[in-house]
Amino acid sequence: MTGYDTIVIGAGHNGLVCATYLAKTGQRVLLLEAADTVGGLAADREFHPGFHAPVAHTLSHFSSKVARDLDLQRHGFNPGSSELPLVGVGNGEPVVVHDGKISGVSAKDQRAYLDYHGLLCRFAAVLEPFWLKTMPRIGSNSIGEVMTFAKLGLDLRRLGKKDMGEFLRIAALPMRDLVDEHFDNEQLKAMLCWDGLIGSKMAPRSPNSAVLALLYRLSGEMHGGHAIPSGGVSSLVSSLMASAENAGVDIRVSSEVSRIRIDSDKERQRATGVHLANGESFAADRVVSAIDAQRTFVNLVGVEHLDIGFTNRIRRIRSDGYVGKLHLALNALPEFRGVDRPDGRIIITPNMDAIEFAFDDAKYGNASAEPVMEVVIPSAADSSLAPDRQHVLSAHVMYIPYKARDGWTGAARDEVRDRAIDTIVKYSNGLRDQIVASEFLTPADIEATYHVSGGHWHHGDFAMDQMLMMRPTYEAAQYNSPIAGLHLCSAACHPGGDLTGLAGHNAAKELLR
Ligand SMILES: Cc1cc2nc3c(=O)[nH]c(=O)nc-3n(C[C@H](O)[C@H](O)[C@H](O)COP(=O)(O)OP(=O)(O)OC[C@H]3O[C@@H](n4cnc5c(N)ncnc54)[C@H](O)[C@@H]3O)c2cc1C
Repeated sequence: MTGYDTIVIGAGHNGLVCATYLAKTGQRVLLLEAADTVGGLAADREFHPGFHAPVAHTLSHFSSKVARDLDLQRHGFNPGSSELPLVGVGNGEPVVVHDGKISGVSAKDQRAYLDYHGLLCRFAAVLEPFWLKTMPRIGSNSIGEVMTFAKLGLDLRRLGKKDMGEFLRIAALPMRDLVDEHFDNEQLKAMLCWDGLIGSKMAPRSPNSAVLALLYRLSGEMHGGHAIPSGGVSSLVSSLMASAENAGVDIRVSSEVSRIRIDSDKERQRATGVHLANGESFAADRVVSAIDAQRTFVNLVGVEHLDIGFTNRIRRIRSDGYVGKLHLALNALPEFRGVDRPDGRIIITPNMDAIEFAFDDAKYGNASAEPVMEVVIPSAADSSLAPDRQHVLSAHVMYIPYKARDGWTGAARDEVRDRAIDTIVKYSNGLRDQIVASEFLTPADIEATYHVSGGHWHHGDFAMDQMLMMRPTYEAAQYNSPIAGLHLCSAACHPGGDLTGLAGHNAAKELLR
């Protein structure tokens, strides 16, 4: 067995971030990836010869601190300066939000949007430092940990009485109530809901944490805006990989970890290395898992090494995905009714009821009869993603259940794909004739291809009982675990998913304490 200081399992963006921070301090770090390429859900995907679309299609709040610390710009990352317009299409005139301005709605809604966005950005700014911190351990009285909460309380207090009261009032409000209070235009309400809902098992009427998810996404320099970096989202991955290699991380792809080696002494069990599916083994002082918590503990550690209460909490994590992915190879740039140029994030849904009804189908194991979706044409931002004058359409389709009522068959997948295409065609007349090739990934396909339990966007619902010091469970919320020497750093940890690099950053900071 070869010895390393640290083995990181999984070269998604969080695994890459964590491994690089550790290697920069001189540690010998081995990064093992099951797939034949790094990047996880952000990895390049050539779904038809010459047509590229990673599962994650835009960037919104990748940590600028991580980008600076890891010198990503020098390693080829160009975040792109232009924010994508947010376009809502449905029954009436499209509504467009871009660079703080809004069109297609009344003057009253335009004014309301400025107030709404300003208010939420103030709240997001208070929460932002929290996303870059290790959460206090439940029951801990250590000054440092207590101060984390004290600081949040103080920052909220500094908002002033009115805003603080409003923050507390709306934090667990259903998205529908929040936008209903501010706006008249149904199209606008539906599109503003989107970033609170996407990725979790939630619809506009669901109480819980959609507003918190929205605030999470409003943090960062783009204040909720999205962009496609030059070279596409996977250019973030190439720059992370270049930075990791520059720091000396030993990266091995096609290296699926089948078991984490656990040794026991009188005191405690300890992770001492890993065994790979191909029979190889590696030893290390510590193992960091950059994959989801259920796979880490149930599949790789084995429940025989775990306390029953902890095992139950891990098994109970809700991680059934509800987002499917449609990729179309097109022989021309598609046109959308009433939209000048399809270079934004196009939210297809006429109103919030349509989102709610689409969700109702999926709750009972059926793919939505009338899916709602976010469409992006990444090749309109970067022509290298498709052959000359051809284009890629990438869509997040909701709601597609991980467990289909009658199981996922090829025919069931084709039916859902066709339903999604039919929905887009309602707004883009000529699209059907432009399609050269297509693929549809259900959450079950995403699980199988990307090794993510449930094919879940966040590796586990972003919900009040699975957040902060409860993420992924209260025993493992500080990027460590009940097994000595076994740490966690994926989206399954605080603060959650999206391409942010935050969990990888926070875990490395904790390990280097
Ligand atoms: C359909 C969909 C669309 C999305 N769109 C966006 C978007 O547009 N923008 C955005 O910001 N976020 C998006 N997300 C969310 C985002 O992609 C994830 O939250 C993010 O990729 C999580 O990063 P990660 O590094 O923690 O894990 P992952 O990206 O899941 O990477 C984990 C890696 O570990 C590897 N692995 C797993 N098991 C093993 C093993 N046993 N041995 C070795 N390696 C292993 C996997 O192969 C994978 O490469 C989307 C998610 C989904 C599902």
